[in-house]
Amino acid sequence: MKKLAIGIDIGGTRTKLGLVDLKKGEVLEMLISPTETKDSAKFLEIINSGIDQLKVVAQKEQSPILEVGFGVTGFVFDDGMVDSTYGFLEFMEDYPLSEFIQEYSSLPCRADNDARVVALGEALYGIGKGQNRVLVLTLGTGLGLGFIANGKFETSLPYAHMGGHISVGYTDFKCYCGKEGCLEALVSATGIVDSAKRQGWEQKYPNLELNVQTIFKAEQEGNEHAKQIVAEFQGCLKTGIDNYINLFAMNKNLYVRNMMQKILNAPKQTK
Ligand SMILES: [Zn+2]
Repeated sequence: MKKLAIGIDIGGTRTKLGLVDLKKGEVLEMLISPTETKDSAKFLEIINSGIDQLKVVAQKEQSPILEVGFGVTGFVFDDGMVDSTYGFLEFMEDYPLSEFIQEYSSLPCRADNDARVVALGEALYGIGKGQNRVLVLTLGTGLGLGFIANGKFETSLPYAHMGGHISVGYTDFKCYCGKEGCLEALVSATGIVDSAKRQGWEQKYPNLELNVQTIFKAEQEGNEHAKQIVAEFQGCLKTGIDNYINLFAMNKNLYVRNMMQKILNAPKQTK
């Protein structure tokens, strides 16, 4: 008998519901529908009908569904109350998401920030499997952050995903959080496009659509302007990651000591 769970990802355009084998981390069945961003009743109808369909699949597998898990953009409290999604889902302000889902499905429901949930998945089943401490950055419209220690979230909600707002340099513009030089404002897709705008991309290339894909494509084709934008992005991301290593890695001192040892023991170069 398998141990199953339903994982739900509410994306910008699509909502995905997956029936997951918890032991293997395998998705047995996936349902995809357009994301309902305006109407709470329609949203719940889509989610609840998806859960019902996945319950039928679980019955065929003769295995119980233990719980439902949500990844939500924005701020979520420990009890599954969504504080805000920054306007992404218009109705999801002070919204008791877990309570609504539990009521209908009679399954325990846990909701968390989407970047943190990605980190948990990577730590348990993905590239971080077997590692004690796993930090995951999600680069998209914004910059999300999730930190997992020994297979569990170490930092608590609701602000734990906001680590993208560390300052990595001086800028003459403000991030939407009110500070200057935020990593998120420099390396997210929105940040890269804003940076190109500030550097006059639209005036230079009026016929080229402005998005990260076109910038990275132009960079690969040798466009100097795009190369500069991508180099700035890489530099800021590297600075951010260097800072995160200092904050989150437990064995930094050991790592540095080993590196120093390697450098000291390296054969001396003679000219
Ligand atoms: Zn910020």
